[in-house]
Order: sequence, then C-alpha cells, then structure tokens
Amino acid sequence: MEKRFLLLGILLLLLGYPFLRPIVEDVWQKQPDATAFPKYKEIRVEQDQIYQGDLLLVNKNDPIHSEAVLSDVIHLSSHKYLVEGYRLQDNSIQLSENAAEAFNEMVHAASIDNVKHFMIKSGYRSLGKPGKLAEEKGHAHDALPDCFHEHHLGTALDVTSTQMKIDQSPEGKWLQENAWKYGFILRYPKEKVTITGVPYNPMHYRFVGLPHSAIMQERQLSLEEYVNTLREAKEVSGTINGGDYKIYYYPVATSIMIQVPTNGKYVLSGDNQGGVIVTEFL
Ligand SMILES: [Zn+2]
Repeated sequence: MEKRFLLLGILLLLLGYPFLRPIVEDVWQKQPDATAFPKYKEIRVEQDQIYQGDLLLVNKNDPIHSEAVLSDVIHLSSHKYLVEGYRLQDNSIQLSENAAEAFNEMVHAASIDNVKHFMIKSGYRSLGKPGKLAEEKGHAHDALPDCFHEHHLGTALDVTSTQMKIDQSPEGKWLQENAWKYGFILRYPKEKVTITGVPYNPMHYRFVGLPHSAIMQERQLSLEEYVNTLREAKEVSGTINGGDYKIYYYPVATSIMIQVPTNGKYVLSGDNQGGVIVTEFL
C-alpha cells in the first residue's frame, strides 16, 4: 500500500512540475521587491525653508530674511585655489563657496577663449552692516534700501574687467553669452528694467545654479518671471548636459510633506515668497 502511495506521489509531482514551474519563476521575477526600496521618500518642509536656497527672489517687494544667508560664505583671498585666473578688488571680498567654485570654473573656460581680465569687485555683504558698496560710483542698484539688496545672499557678485568698463569689455560680452552655462544670470538686464525695478547693471551676476540659469537664458526670463513661471507650471522637465531633470514647485503655508528621491540627487530652494522648488536630477 505504502509503495503505491509513494509512486502516486512521485507521479503527481512529475505531472505538477510544469504547472508549478511558472509560479516559481514568477516569484523570482518579482525580486527585488520594489516596495522594499522606494525611489521616493517623504520629507517635511517648514515655512523657514521658503527663505533659504539659491533661487530666492529678493527685490523691493520681497526683502531678504535672516535665514537666507548661506552657511558656506568664505573669504575668497584665503582660498587661493578659488581665485586662480582672476583678481579680487580687495582681500575682504566674501562669497558662497559653492558660487565661488562655479565662478572659478567659468573664468577658466573664458581663459580658453582668451578672455582673461576678470575682477570681482564685490560679493557678500553681511546683514545690518553699512555697505561699502553704497559709496561706490556707478553702482545704481545700491540706491535701493539695504534689506532689498541681493549682496546679502552670498550668491551675488559684481564682476568687472581690469582693462576697461565691463559693458565695453570682452569679459562683459563673454559673460553675457556664457555665464548661464555655469549657473549664473545677469540679474538686472537692460530689457527687464520694468520687471526687476532695478536699472541695467552689467556687473551684477547672481548664482542660481543649473538647470535654472539655462532655462532662463533659453526663454529670456528674469528671475521674477522665472519664479512666476515655476509657480504657475508646478512641474517642468528637460535635459541639461546629457542628463534629465525635473523641477517641482510646492506652495508652503505652515509646513508641508513633499516627495524627494531616496538616493538620487536633488536640490531644494525656497522662492522667498510662498513656496519651495525641488530640482531633481534623474
Ligand atoms: Zn551688485
């Protein structure tokens, strides 16, 4: 009897094998379990994050908040590797290290095009400290009240040529054509005076980072117009330097939960108005 049951068992196993096999394969195909390694995670964004980051819009309607000052502001003269290939007007000039690295890369690229006479005239200015800039001749936007001024951010700088006036120099021309490739924008262009509310200033550049500077260049947008565009669009995507990116805008009332990549690269910045912008590099 027992032998018959054993043979029957073996027969059933053999018959069942083809039916069992796909099930086994299916289980293997589901590995690894996608839910065990989520691509996105949720983070809480608080209201003070509206006032921090590289995309802050600082103008007469949106004054700078104390949270805005970047923690990586450094004295450029004590970081020799960051000031190769250009001059500083004096040793007191400070700037965000991240922006200074991008500026250094930009100046190096310009030198390959034989444009080599850049000088940083001014950079970061601490909040509440009387500005030396106000005494400088020809710096039209210093007529604005101190709290509206972009130089408090650490990502704004005035660039001149050591040879001639910047708007007549090869340096000025090169920057107007190429600064966007390195994350910089000419903050107060001639054709945007009515939007920025600030007279044309060929010296004043602002670091906003890629892909933002590239989008602004391509669509000919001022920072005011760009932030408005993001706020209305909520989501923008494209390609930069061979990689895809996505930009999301989230309004923030008091606090909000948002999704960000678990392991991928992303940058979060406030707009200094009422929301945050997440830039995801895919
Ligand atoms: Zn300036």
